[in-house]
Amino acid sequence: MTTTGHQHHARTVQFAAGERNVFMHILTACNLSCKHCYINPDQHGTKMLSRERLASWIKLFAPETGTANIVFLGGEPTMHPDLIYGLEVARASGFRTTVDTNGYLFHDFLARCSPDLLDNLSFSLDGPDAQVNDHIRGAGSFGVCTEHIGRAIAAGFRVSVIYTVSSLNIDHLHRLPPLLDRLGVRLLFLQVIGLRGKSAELSKSSTTLQVDYRHWRDAVLPVAQAAATLGIAVIYPKVYLDKEEPFVCAARVAENFFVFPNGRVYQCPLCEDYPLHSYEIRDDTLIHLDGLQEERIFALDIAEGCTMNKLLQPDTIACAPDGTPLTRVSCCMLKQRVDPIS
Ligand code: SF4
Ligand code: SF4
Repeated sequence: MTTTGHQHHARTVQFAAGERNVFMHILTACNLSCKHCYINPDQHGTKMLSRERLASWIKLFAPETGTANIVFLGGEPTMHPDLIYGLEVARASGFRTTVDTNGYLFHDFLARCSPDLLDNLSFSLDGPDAQVNDHIRGAGSFGVCTEHIGRAIAAGFRVSVIYTVSSLNIDHLHRLPPLLDRLGVRLLFLQVIGLRGKSAELSKSSTTLQVDYRHWRDAVLPVAQAAATLGIAVIYPKVYLDKEEPFVCAARVAENFFVFPNGRVYQCPLCEDYPLHSYEIRDDTLIHLDGLQEERIFALDIAEGCTMNKLLQPDTIACAPDGTPLTRVSCCMLKQRVDPIS
């Protein structure tokens, strides 16, 4: 990725042409049942990849030259008994590696994995204390996650935290940087709650997890700047484009593959609740699908920016009384970055 903007302010991180990112869901099972979980067994299956399949699927996406990024996720990827084998295969295939964990670190992960195999061990934490976090992620999860963050850092792993901002925790976000500083975490990813899986279900009832854009914007930048003064880098989604900023669909310039254990491969994460995937893995071969699939949508240019967002979440776009869009929605993968002040 390349970046634009000024130091210590939020910079937009542009997609680098041809960059490859593989998001490998190696199972859908999980020991937790978070309120906002986006795993959708109807669409993604309930299978766990076998050891052999895990290796062959990783190799399907291996870069021909140079490096690419692979993120192992689930469900809870450390519940997979062959995760470390998967990391070894990925390393040998030219990948930079990330594991996204809920913090439980099954199968004695820290003792069995070497920091050399893993570029980033990313822990999901949704509150700055047990009260806020456990209400979303389940009783006891804050204690386990923060303890394991400390142990992972002590063992020499590069650690980051992902905080999914929703109506349940946005007003507690400002208390997160001091906690991360105490734990020794130097990289924070903020995610904005999407309309997928359980949060889409909940939004049909009265308990919405969604946050409105003003609330998000007013909360996020001050927190990112506070984190920067503590030496913590923060990366978060852009959501709305600035006036003169060009709209770019990541699927048109970079290669992003969101792989599910039932063989579906998407290029856009917003499509994951629908059978709109553009590829499918059959018999360990990557097949490009014809017909009505997500690529038809990437090719469209509309005034509102991201077409998929317009189709799936039209309420997020503010319009003038005549229906003209007042804002353009960026690609959900376009990020802002605030670097630490040294
Ligand atoms: S830890 Fe992740 S996969 Fe597990 S329930 Fe929570 S959001 Fe879903
Ligand atoms: S979120 Fe929108 S802009 Fe980004 S890949 Fe999907 S369709 Fe393209």
